[in-house]
Amino acid sequence: MSRTNAPETDPDAGHARGALNVADWSQRTLAAQAMGHIDPVTRAVVPPLHLSTTYLRDADNGYRSGFSYARPDNATIREAEGVIAALEGAEAGALLFGSGMAAAAAVFSALAPGDHVIAPEVMYWGLKRWLRQEAPRLGLTVDFVAMDNRDAVRAAFVPGRTRLVWAETPGNPLCTIVDLAAIAELAHAASARLVVDSTASSPILTRPLEHGADLVMHSATKILNGHSDVVAGVLAAARPDAFWERLIAIRATWGAILGPFEAYLLMRGLRTLPLRVSAQSAGALHLAERLSGHPLVGTVLYPGLADHPGHAVAARQMQGGFGFMLSIRVAGGEAAAIATAARVRLWKRATSLGGVESLIEHRASVEGTGTPCPPDLLRLSVGIEDPEDLFRDLDEALHGAASS
Ligand SMILES: *Cc1c(COP(=O)(O)O)cnc(C)c1O
Repeated sequence: MSRTNAPETDPDAGHARGALNVADWSQRTLAAQAMGHIDPVTRAVVPPLHLSTTYLRDADNGYRSGFSYARPDNATIREAEGVIAALEGAEAGALLFGSGMAAAAAVFSALAPGDHVIAPEVMYWGLKRWLRQEAPRLGLTVDFVAMDNRDAVRAAFVPGRTRLVWAETPGNPLCTIVDLAAIAELAHAASARLVVDSTASSPILTRPLEHGADLVMHSATKILNGHSDVVAGVLAAARPDAFWERLIAIRATWGAILGPFEAYLLMRGLRTLPLRVSAQSAGALHLAERLSGHPLVGTVLYPGLADHPGHAVAARQMQGGFGFMLSIRVAGGEAAAIATAARVRLWKRATSLGGVESLIEHRASVEGTGTPCPPDLLRLSVGIEDPEDLFRDLDEALHGAASS
C-alpha cells in the first residue's frame, strides 16, 4: 500500500487531517494545537483515542475510510505522526514504532545483505550493541568511525557497498557534535543515505532534513514525549521514495507498531515540546556554566560551551539552545563519580533522558566493556526544575563525595 501521512497531502487521513497548514505557522503553534485536529463528529478539541482494531467494510467490498485493520491503520497514531512530521519538516511524513530501537532496527532491516554501514564511534550504546550483534545476521557490515572527523568518515566508505551512514548529534554520552551537512555531502556523493538519530536534539533545536539528511530517527521515549511514561520511536523522511515505502511495509508486516494509547500520550507531550526544550536547554547551559571551573569537576562536556570542540558547528546547526543533556567528568575519578551520584537528593539516579525530571547516571557502568565513555563521567539529563536548585544539589553531592 502506498501512502504518505504529511498532514496536508494524505489522501487516506480522513478525520486525522490537520486543521493547521504547516507552512503558515511556527513549530510552537503547530505543537500547542497538535496540528489543530478537531473530531468531526463531536467537534472535540482534543481528538478521541482510537482503540478499534478493525474497521467496517463497505457493502461494495471497499474501505471508504482507507482504514481496514489497526496494524497499519490507526487515526491516533497518524495524528501523532502528523505533528512530528510537521515539526521535522518531513514531506513524506513520519512513522511511529514501538520503541526507538524498533525504529532504528527497521532502517537497517530495509538494507540488503552485503550492504555496508558507517556508524559513529560515539552513539547510543544499545544501538551500537545491536549493530555489533544483530546487523551481521542481516548480512550487513558495519564500521564505527569518529563521525566528527570528516576525513575519517570519508576514508570509511567502501565503494559500491556503503549504503547508509548513521549519525547521532549531540552524541551519547560525550556530547560530540556531527556536522550534518558535511556528512550528508559525503554520503550522497557515494549514493548512500544519511540517517540521523536526533533524540538528543529534538526538532526544536535541529531539523536534520534541512541539513541534507534523508531520514530522522528519534527515541520518542525521551524529549518528544518528555514525561518518562511512554516507550516509542519514530522515523521521519524527506521524500516518499522506495526506501520509505519499504519502511512503511516493514512496520506493518513485521508488526513493529506503537499502541494507540502511547500515541495519545505522546501527542499530549508534544504540545509542550517547544517550551520544555527551551527551558531544559537553558537549564543545561546554566549548569554547564556553573560547573565549568568547579574545583571538583575536571571537564564539562556541553556543546553550548565555547571551549567544546563542536561548539562552532553546534552554533550553526542548532537553534534556540544546545540541548538538555550534558556530561561531567568528576575530578576525583570513578569512585568520586559514583559517590556523587549516590549523594544527590534532587536529581534522580536513573537511566534515560529528556523527561521533565532531572536524571543523573554513571554511564560507564551501564555501557560496560568497550565503551568510549570514561569511568569518571556522569551523564546529566536536565529537566524543568529550577536550575540553581539542581546546581546546589549537585554541588553538595560533589563536596560530600570528596570529603567522604
Ligand atoms: C533511548 C535512545 C535510543 C533507544 O530508544 P528506545 O526508545 O529506548 O528504544 C536510541 N537513541 C538514543 C540517542 C537514545 O537516547
